[in-house]
Amino acid sequence: MNETKFAIHIHTHYSDGNASHEELVKIAAKAGLHGIITTDHNIWLDGLEGYYGQGKQKVMLLVGEEIHDRTLDPPGNHLLAINARKELSRFSDSPQQLIDQIQHSGGLSFLAHPVEDPLEEFNQKDFSWRDWDIHGFTGIELWNHMSEFKSVSSGYFSAAVNALFPKQMSLGPLERTLSLWDQLIASRMQKIVAIGGVDAHQLQYKLGPFSIWIYPYLHHFKSVTTHIINSKPLSGSFPDDRNMLIRSLEQGHCFVAYDLPAPTDGFMFSANNEEGRFIMGDAVKIQNGLTFQICLPRQTLCRLLKDGKILKEWTDHKVCTHITTDPGVYRVEAFIPYKGKMRGWIFSNPIYAWL
Ligand SMILES: [Zn+2]
Ligand SMILES: [Zn+2]
Repeated sequence: MNETKFAIHIHTHYSDGNASHEELVKIAAKAGLHGIITTDHNIWLDGLEGYYGQGKQKVMLLVGEEIHDRTLDPPGNHLLAINARKELSRFSDSPQQLIDQIQHSGGLSFLAHPVEDPLEEFNQKDFSWRDWDIHGFTGIELWNHMSEFKSVSSGYFSAAVNALFPKQMSLGPLERTLSLWDQLIASRMQKIVAIGGVDAHQLQYKLGPFSIWIYPYLHHFKSVTTHIINSKPLSGSFPDDRNMLIRSLEQGHCFVAYDLPAPTDGFMFSANNEEGRFIMGDAVKIQNGLTFQICLPRQTLCRLLKDGKILKEWTDHKVCTHITTDPGVYRVEAFIPYKGKMRGWIFSNPIYAWL
């Protein structure tokens, strides 16, 4: 298996971010990423995608778009369009039409920060997803780094502490987003792919003569990432590699990671039956039984969940197994201690086990 690490949902100075695409790929190389996906608000930029840098510093830049409905107050229904490769913001006031157009263009659609809280002290509104009368979207942003900041910061003091000490802040996806995801899959009986998004802007905060960068890009890129598992190594040919990565993402062959406490590279959630081996994101027939295997980069608290409920828990294994004949949606969560707290570390996409 060939694992690539991406930071997704990044704003540049074409919308409300504070860096150019060229600067971002350099920061991504420093963070050890294979690629980044920028998503500026209601603007898609042509002619920038490709590989940048050389050797181990080589980084893939994909340019998507975060499209939201400006007619709503506050502007709502933020949708990440990835690989549509055309401007689609004219459909922003009709989420279903937008999702259909993205699909028609060979792109993927993810509901950005589907659950959020406002941060009134800083005039930050609640941008949760609102229109649930939709179908056919690829997935959701399970962990949005800046939404988490808004949700865990209650008041000026807490926001200031979380802004000044970002390594202390993150604990994992919001519980409400995790249960929303489990419910969506259960009620719709279809794949809903989870990705991690940084929602990086690198905002500048000025107080008199002083100014600080809040959540610098480098911090984001070392934190909440999406690890994409590909069937082949990257070839170096940009169009081929882009297609392979997009198809892997579409399948849900990926996991959401918090790489700051310890690298998550090498994690795998797989299942074996008489037909062979399947990985996270796959739908598989149980047949005479299914053997799940979880490989962790290090021993830590690891849970196997079935239909959103904890089925089994391990604390001292690097390889965990479970045999089942029960159909359901199985996924993995792993937690790791960091700076005095247990932090969400790995959130896998599910294996969908059907009879
Ligand atoms: Zn947004
Ligand atoms: Zn955003």
